[in-house]
Amino acid sequence: MLRAMAALPMIGRMAYSPLRVAIVPVTPLQQNATLIWCTETMRGAFTDPGADLDRLRAAAEQHGVTVEKILITHGHLDHCGQAGILAREYGVPIEGPHEADRFWISRLDDDGPRFGIRGEVFEPDRWLVDGDTVRVGNLTFDVYHCPGHTPGHVVFHHPESKLAIVGDVLFQGSIGRTDFPLGNHQDLIDAITTKLWPLGDDTAFIPGHGPMSNFAHERRSNPFVSDSALAGQTAGGGAATP
Ligand SMILES: [Zn+2]
Ligand SMILES: [Zn+2]
Repeated sequence: MLRAMAALPMIGRMAYSPLRVAIVPVTPLQQNATLIWCTETMRGAFTDPGADLDRLRAAAEQHGVTVEKILITHGHLDHCGQAGILAREYGVPIEGPHEADRFWISRLDDDGPRFGIRGEVFEPDRWLVDGDTVRVGNLTFDVYHCPGHTPGHVVFHHPESKLAIVGDVLFQGSIGRTDFPLGNHQDLIDAITTKLWPLGDDTAFIPGHGPMSNFAHERRSNPFVSDSALAGQTAGGGAATP
């Protein structure tokens, strides 16, 4: 377990930033739960701790991080099925997602057995809206509401590190599915082009599944949202990624 985690790269450009990240893929869907922390305080947060809590606790212990909160991008089982359990264990609050995902969170108990993951309904301590900020140690992340994959999906961005945690909005070479209840393909495209792209081409991102990438790479080559694909309006239909 720890070997797999240690093999994941730290982000080179963060050498001079107090932000550190460790990605821990969880659930059979290999969802990128991420431990983010501030080296000035060694206080941190888990984003999307969907399951495999023993591995997540081990990551915090290995890096000497005091977990002070849990951040959630959206209400899907693989992202937050066990967030409530972890929050209770650590005695920390849950911030996010946007309240429009309340219906997803309310069905976590029922969705769990269908995917072989134990899910538990929880009530976030703080729902987030576009323009909010969340604090982790001495770090401040900006919150962007990016609906489309789910109506209440949010993205966390740390401007100083040029790093975004985007959940299932955008992947390397793909975008989130929009065939779920209240999914909306155009909303997702709009969120990517009007909220993510303005953060800058040199912005690296941790997606909900799969490898990291950056916006420049996706604007060049992503078949759904590259500049050329959108200019031709050829994008359409759902992506194949969870
Ligand atoms: Zn999702
Ligand atoms: Zn996902």
